[in-house]
Parts: sequence; structure tokens; C-alpha cells
Amino acid sequence: MTFLETDAIVLRTVRYGEADVVLSLYSPTGGRLSAIAKGARKTGSKLGGRLQPGVWATFSLARGRGALLTVRSASVVQAHAGVWISGYRLRAASSLLETVLRTVPEDDASPETFHLLSRALGVLSTTAPQDGPPRLDPVVLGFQVKLLLVSGFLPRMDSCAVCGSSELLVAFSAHAGGVLCRTCQGAGEPLDVAVHQAMVQLLGHPLVDASNACPREARLGVERIVGLVLQEHLGVTLRSATPV
Ligand SMILES: [Zn+2]
Repeated sequence: MTFLETDAIVLRTVRYGEADVVLSLYSPTGGRLSAIAKGARKTGSKLGGRLQPGVWATFSLARGRGALLTVRSASVVQAHAGVWISGYRLRAASSLLETVLRTVPEDDASPETFHLLSRALGVLSTTAPQDGPPRLDPVVLGFQVKLLLVSGFLPRMDSCAVCGSSELLVAFSAHAGGVLCRTCQGAGEPLDVAVHQAMVQLLGHPLVDASNACPREARLGVERIVGLVLQEHLGVTLRSATPV
């Protein structure tokens, strides 16, 4: 048996058996990990209620023969407690965690992804609810656009993906690799100028400014572009991106 000490953010918890919980974790050095917290649902458990989705903790994990690790201890670094007092924030945070669960490969250990996720949860902990569904919160969209960059999936946004022209960029194609000019637009779908601008602004601004970077009318369009890119590269559709 070997031991692993690592910081990690809890992405998901699943009840298991009588009193256990299986955690999906994201670690900056270990990537996505699964670990069982034995007895975590027993009254008085030291692990218990602290290991909720969105919590950042320092874990001591034991590795046995299988892929499932065992939690030996965990001490909370940042609970992101503000997320838990608002249904809106909680649902927005779920969109962040789901994005990592579904789009980051298991062995992809990236300190950048970890810090991006912890920053996004931190900003969401104090964010004011916006009009519209939580999955379209500008912090969620900003996180997703920045995650495309960190993951190497960011489409070309400043010049035509086919001919390189930076004039009259009117369409988008995830398959072609980015925005398209008027001459090459045949392969793509129309791109609203506000959506194009919001993508660029979200990339260039910290998450605390996401609200200004992504005006309300551009949010659905940004979500669509992120969805098209993830579909193209990974073949996944985010559950949170399906219409409600
Ligand atoms: Zn072109």
C-alpha cells in the first residue's frame, strides 16, 4: 500500500453502501481521482459533512491494488461556504464541477486547471445571482472559456481559421478550428458580433470581471460555442448545456 498526500477539490460525492461515500476529486498533481471515504455518513464521522462538492481540502490517501483510493484524513483548506447559502450559486458551482468531471481526462494533472477551478468557486461564493439560468452565469462561462485555453482546445478567435484574414469575421466552425471570414463562412454557422467579443473579453479578463466581459445577450451564444468545441474535441455534451 502506498500513500498520497495531495490538495484536491471535491467534484462529486456518491453514497456507497451503508455509510461510505465515494468522492471524485481533482488534484493539481494527480488529476481526477476516485477515493472512498469509509464511514463518512456515520454520525460523528471526522470526514462526514465536510467533504461536499466544491470543497478544497488537503487529503491523505491510501492506494491499494485497485484504482479506488481510500481517504485516511482530510483537512479543509477552503470550504467555499458562500456557495452553500444560495441555490443559484450552488447550481452555478455544479456547472463548474460537471465541466471538469466531463471534460478533463482522468490523468490530466494540471495546476492551472486546479487554480482556475478554485478561483471560479471563490468568485461564485460571493457572486450576486444574475437573471437567467445559473449555468449561464458569466463566471461559469468565463471558467469554461479559460478551461478551453488551459486544455489546448481554444478555437482561433482573432482571424479566419481557414484563410487567416482578420476582416469581416462572421461565422464560427469548431471543426474548422475557429472563426471564419465572409468568404470562408460556408463551413460554419453565423457568429454574432457580441458573442465573438464576449469570448475575447472573457479570455482577457479575470473571472471577477466576467459580468462586464460577457453581457446578457451574448451568454447563450458563448455557451453554444463552448459546447460546439467540446463536442468537436471530446464528443461530450454538457448536461448543464441542454435546454431546460
Ligand atoms: Zn477566410
